[in-house]
Amino acid sequence: MTTRVLILGGGYVGLYTALTLQRKARGKVDITVVDRRPYMTYQPFLPEAAAGSIEARHVVVPLRRELSGARIVQGKVSQIAHAERRARVETDFGDTLDLEYDEVVVALGSVPRTLPIPGLAENGIGFKWVEEAINLRNIVLGRIARAASTEDARTRQRLLTFVFVGGGFAGIEAFAETEDMARAALRYYPELSPSDLHFVMVEMAPGILPEMGPEMGEYTLKELRRRGMVVHLETRLESAVDGVIELSNGETYEADTLVWTAGVKPNPVIGSSDLPTGPKGHVNALPTLQVADEDGAVVDGAWAAGDCAQVPDLAKGDGAWCAPSAQHAVRQARLLGANLAAHIDGRAPKEYRHKNLGTVASLGLHKGVAQVMGVKLRGWPAWFMHRTYHMAQIPSFNRKSRVVLDWTAALFFRRDLVSMGRLHEPRRAFKEAADS
Ligand SMILES: Cc1cc2nc3c(=O)[nH]c(=O)nc-3n(C[C@H](O)[C@H](O)[C@H](O)COP(=O)(O)OP(=O)(O)OC[C@H]3O[C@@H](n4cnc5c(N)ncnc54)[C@H](O)[C@@H]3O)c2cc1C
Repeated sequence: MTTRVLILGGGYVGLYTALTLQRKARGKVDITVVDRRPYMTYQPFLPEAAAGSIEARHVVVPLRRELSGARIVQGKVSQIAHAERRARVETDFGDTLDLEYDEVVVALGSVPRTLPIPGLAENGIGFKWVEEAINLRNIVLGRIARAASTEDARTRQRLLTFVFVGGGFAGIEAFAETEDMARAALRYYPELSPSDLHFVMVEMAPGILPEMGPEMGEYTLKELRRRGMVVHLETRLESAVDGVIELSNGETYEADTLVWTAGVKPNPVIGSSDLPTGPKGHVNALPTLQVADEDGAVVDGAWAAGDCAQVPDLAKGDGAWCAPSAQHAVRQARLLGANLAAHIDGRAPKEYRHKNLGTVASLGLHKGVAQVMGVKLRGWPAWFMHRTYHMAQIPSFNRKSRVVLDWTAALFFRRDLVSMGRLHEPRRAFKEAADS
């Protein structure tokens, strides 16, 4: 008899767990993967997708293609009732499904950690999904085009002020890559000069890029400021009502673009499930990636990993938890798949132990910063390492080849800087024609 494995979430953890199970438990498992999107998003490439260095479709990995043999359900997990071994899914097509399972893998990742700041929900945009990367790119290029066509200095300044909140590596990469693209786009706008662009980062901590340590954070800060970008440290966003950005240090900006990259929290679906959670809302997991109750006893039939799970970091010790990162997510998923296969065969699971290898960040074309196994790199070598590392990491030969082809094409033809803002209102031209 096959074991019904239900994987909730088809991101890093979901995809790699399913791939491992398909190899290690072939014929013994019946795999279903549920995700709101029919693809896994390779998030570290989102800044390059926003900057136009990589075609947006190439930073996502289609689940149906990679996981042939598994059932893929496109929809939103709205409820997990583990006591009944059942998860409820609202499909994108209006149906409600109750999926039953023998083993569940919770891989629902995280959502942006927002704050109740006036105007944020109405005006802010996130940067976690490919749709948001495409949107940001179209917004920036579209605002540059509009700014070039207005004579009004105040409107122009507002259009060309881009405020980012949150200076971790995802935020800093998005900030730096987008500015690099905007600066490159000005080549085609003789009406504008680089000094018209205002890129502003707001960070609550005393430094940026905490993942890379103070030295590399300091270097990056200097580098960004040298490029004319403004970074406010130890500063909070107080209000963003009607595009008026008020900061806790007294500074005010009028800006049409506000990008929120200030950290993540576990997927809220977990809070409404009957699975045991930790103090911050993560699924409580053992180093074996089995879900555990508050006394540390295994909850039968439940596994969790990645951003939505609280997994002890045995390499650090001292009661530390693994940070939300792709590095942990991929390695945890491979172990989770192997452990689940072992469990089905009646063998004991192994514990997760991984020492962080370092971090690489791209700061625009040919610019970067890296800290890998104690080696610190800056500028072009760091940027090259960023590309090499992520090219090796993105799943599937298909995606690796397409990304390399994008980069190669950009060497000869420069990156594409066309705004597709009209993508967001595809019926407009037809409606205008019909109305006339
Ligand atoms: C811009 C950016 C850059 C990053 N760069 C790096 C980097 O350079 N290095 C690094 O180590 N980490 C990086 N990260 C972090 C890394 O991407 C995450 O830690 C990793 O994706 C976590 O994997 P996961 O499987 O837990 O979650 P995800 O990969 O986010 O997968 C969760 C999946 O669940 C799905 N989902 C969510 N809610 C539901 C629901 N209710 N129903 C159905 N499906 C749902 C989502 O669609 C998604 O596919 C970056 C993150 C971002 C946003």
